Amino acid sequence: MDFQYSAKTISYLERVRSFIAEQIAPVEQQALAQEQTADWTRWRVSPAIEELKAKARQAGLWNLFLPDAAAGLTTLEYAPLAEEMGKSLIAAEIFNCNAPDTGNMEILHLFGTPEQKKQWLEPLLAGEIRSVFAMTEPDVASSDATNMRATIVESGGELVLNGRKWWSTGLGHPDARIAVFMGVSDAAADRHSQHSMVLVPLDAPGVTIKRMLPVFGEYDAPYGHGEVWFEDVRVPKSNVLWDLGKGYEIAQRRLGPGRIHHCMRAIGAAEKVLELLIRRGSSRVAFGKPLLRLGGNLERVAKARVAIDQARLLTLYAAWKIDTVGAMAALTEISAIKAVAPTMLQTVVDDAIQIYGGAGLTRDVPLAAYFGMARSLRIADGPDEVHWGRVARLELAKYKQREP
Ligand SMILES: Cc1cc2nc3c(=O)[nH]c(=O)nc-3n(C[C@H](O)[C@H](O)[C@H](O)COP(=O)(O)OP(=O)(O)OC[C@H]3O[C@@H](n4cnc5c(N)ncnc54)[C@H](O)[C@@H]3O)c2cc1C
Repeated sequence: MDFQYSAKTISYLERVRSFIAEQIAPVEQQALAQEQTADWTRWRVSPAIEELKAKARQAGLWNLFLPDAAAGLTTLEYAPLAEEMGKSLIAAEIFNCNAPDTGNMEILHLFGTPEQKKQWLEPLLAGEIRSVFAMTEPDVASSDATNMRATIVESGGELVLNGRKWWSTGLGHPDARIAVFMGVSDAAADRHSQHSMVLVPLDAPGVTIKRMLPVFGEYDAPYGHGEVWFEDVRVPKSNVLWDLGKGYEIAQRRLGPGRIHHCMRAIGAAEKVLELLIRRGSSRVAFGKPLLRLGGNLERVAKARVAIDQARLLTLYAAWKIDTVGAMAALTEISAIKAVAPTMLQTVVDDAIQIYGGAGLTRDVPLAAYFGMARSLRIADGPDEVHWGRVARLELAKYKQREP
């Protein structure tokens, strides 16, 4: 077993690392200083972000997440780059590698018609527009994708969509143009074939953005997470993604490589947080000793080191399995890492906040932002329990097969 990254990964890693250090880090605080207001109509993209995106694209550090894009990186080769991006709160966006656009680009890439790709995938890959994934609904337990109740009805050669969606990430972005809408197109079909996914331009009549939802009081401007209503929205039938009845399958496929990007970034975020914890804990003194020398603080450092490394190895293993046997044969590893990585980050950030004292709760350091990210990932990417449940089911299934 070779734990060495490939030469290609090492070369990209060096370039991503220097770009973040030289170009992104100096302007990150300023670019993030967007007013956290519920009035999303006032949200703007910082000119610094647009400038950096242009530079990253020119430097060939663009769309690195997509195996078929210019860089041609495998999931395993991309993982350390995503980790590096996770050390910054804005880097993923600068390299056009941010959620939910990555997942949406992936499904357009896999299932889009040539016309859909021309209209929506090309501008997304160019970073000119942003997109939304509108699956979750306020009225049903959305951790079960078969629960969605929004409707898709054929009428006069068109599709008519109705439903209320929320937690649609990116909905407040000034460049958001397209939503991937999930709804029931055939209630009589079997549970996994009732739903479809349809592309809906956000300026279509009947689409109304109701509000943005804060995460612990923060709106994540200029992306945001919104509630949006679809009322008798009419789109051509050619806006169906893949085919009618394929919604659940697309949702499952979207949970593959794209979704372990969160885990890779969470590991980078944890590395950054551990560095902050150690620097603060070694330089600040209480009761005559550096904070790290008090109580059980050194042990916390050791445990964080090991937890991060465990999560990284599990993530790289999941990435390797996705590349070698496919996402559907790597379900245990994908589910495991989705449950492990955000919880690990949450614990490391919590310890760092504690070492920082009051300062840890302010915006002077990014710890509160990382905590919000970790805590919400434990729900946003599917609740922990759903991932653990899948690991357990797959484990039990092994023994069922062996029963006489
Ligand atoms: C920051 C953020 C961003 C998001 N972005 C998007 C997005 O872009 N697009 C989108 O469509 N959705 C998005 N979501 C929504 C997210 O996918 C859902 O919140 C998630 O799937 C859970 O659905 P729910 O909130 O309806 O919780 P519910 O389904 O009501 O579940 C509530 C709780 O029930 C328990 N539970 C559920 N299932 C099980 C089980 N099998 N075993 C044991 N316990 C269980 C868990 O404790 C779970 O947390 C986002 C959410 C957040 C917080």
